[in-house]
Amino acid sequence: MARPDLLPEVAAFLQRAHGHFIDGRAVPGEGARLAIVDPATAEPIAEVAAAGAAEIDAAVAAAQRAFAGDWGRAMPAQRAHCLLRLADLIEAHGDELAQIETLQSGKLLGLARGFEIAQAAAFLRHYAGAATRLHGETIAPSIPSFHDERYTAFTRREPVGAVAGIVPWNFSILIAVWKFASALATGCTSVIKPSEFTPLTMLRIAELALEAGIPPGALNVVCGGGDSGRLLCAHPGIAKISFTGSVATGLQVGRAAFDGRLVRTTLELGGKNPVAFLPDVPIERMLGGIMEAGFLHQGQICAAGERFFIHRSRIDETLEALAATLRTLRIGDPMDPTTQFGPLANRPHLDKIAALFRQARGDGTRIVCGGETLDRPGFFVAPTALRVDRADAPLLHQETFGPIGTFLAYDDEDELPDLLNGTPYGLAASVWTQDIAKALRLVPQVRAGTVWINMHTLLDPAVPFGGAKQSGVGREFGAAFVDDYTELKSVMIRY
Ligand code: NDP
Repeated sequence: MARPDLLPEVAAFLQRAHGHFIDGRAVPGEGARLAIVDPATAEPIAEVAAAGAAEIDAAVAAAQRAFAGDWGRAMPAQRAHCLLRLADLIEAHGDELAQIETLQSGKLLGLARGFEIAQAAAFLRHYAGAATRLHGETIAPSIPSFHDERYTAFTRREPVGAVAGIVPWNFSILIAVWKFASALATGCTSVIKPSEFTPLTMLRIAELALEAGIPPGALNVVCGGGDSGRLLCAHPGIAKISFTGSVATGLQVGRAAFDGRLVRTTLELGGKNPVAFLPDVPIERMLGGIMEAGFLHQGQICAAGERFFIHRSRIDETLEALAATLRTLRIGDPMDPTTQFGPLANRPHLDKIAALFRQARGDGTRIVCGGETLDRPGFFVAPTALRVDRADAPLLHQETFGPIGTFLAYDDEDELPDLLNGTPYGLAASVWTQDIAKALRLVPQVRAGTVWINMHTLLDPAVPFGGAKQSGVGREFGAAFVDDYTELKSVMIRY
């Protein structure tokens, strides 16, 4: 099927000379220009400027002014109203945003429209609700009274200021929303730095935010690569950094945040997430679970399952059926609604996955299916299942962030806690069984920020999300995010 026509507004948007969005307006930018490449064709589709110190200074100054001004002084209900309007606008412009997202990231159009845009609106509405529910508490101190004086105390939640949000390329709309909507809900202001590969949707959303009534300076976007991110994180005007990306970059961000100052930091990092199937799971559910956990968005999801543990009595039939499923996936243009499996998001990622395939071939790993790049334009690889026979096999421990499931057989369910915990990461895990009691007994033994039972990958704005161990620090969503974006001030009164 041919690629569907671009919406006129998308074609016009791509033609623009993109730079940054600072203080309520598009700024062309003076830095180097970066090509934005369509992963399905490897052809450039747009250009964007990379932010240098001048643009970062301007964005942070605008965020600080809005914090001291219109947004910092806005009543909670006004903040909620603006976020709700932005949710409506994102839905109204959903087709346009989905096309731009698919063109820049290779995400299937249906996933962009039906999942990412819908979830972005849901998260905005969740944070809008939180804006009017930022509560302190009243406390009765036990200070002795010598002259009949009394004491009372209360706490206030106060926004920390201008917040930097650093976003990776896999969900450039949704992860940006997690960061700026939580900041704006609490009364903070935001400077978002999208990935150099996928900045276009955020530039468009910043325009919609202005239309939604979010005042100039409250939400800014600076584009560029790691250097731009580094400058933003090191900027003295930034009161908090919320970073999502790799462990290696997260460590650099953490160091910058504690270098001569103390800047609050939330780090959402990588994972090598385990998926354990108990022997009682029917084959169809197991297959569905493996596809849900490991192969959505070509595996480019931080919480995706990459280590699969299957009882020895079931592993052969499962891998045979999985290989048959993976081999028949319709691989192709993510803009084509009939495509089931698209390209990887960018060339460096393709190169990384190709190197992992070579490693698998070199170290004697059994390649059940896939294990190769595809000879066609764009950044395509075959969905891949690997079988290893040792718990210390390297591919069971290296994060691939791609469509590579690595499978190991176990003999006894007592092995599962050690197998599940056997990496330095701890983002997420899932346990699949018909015996809920067995799953619930495993939950406290798994060191991960999220444990799913009979599901994987799906997140909800009401449920906190974040990593244990090397997978990060802090929590987003739920009510947990409030701790990270507000200072808890205690007020004590003698009367
Ligand atoms: P990176 O860590 O390479 O980059 C993440 C972001 O940080 C990008 O915007 C990047 O810019 C920017 N950046 C790079 N260097 C610096 C620096 N020194 N200071 C500040 N910012 C910097 O990750 P990827 O974009 O490659 O994303 C994939 C990784 O993200 C995977 O490891 C995955 O596990 C993790 N991830 C975690 C999630 C979670 O919620 N825990 C969710 C999604 C992904 P640029 O891209 O332009 O280099």
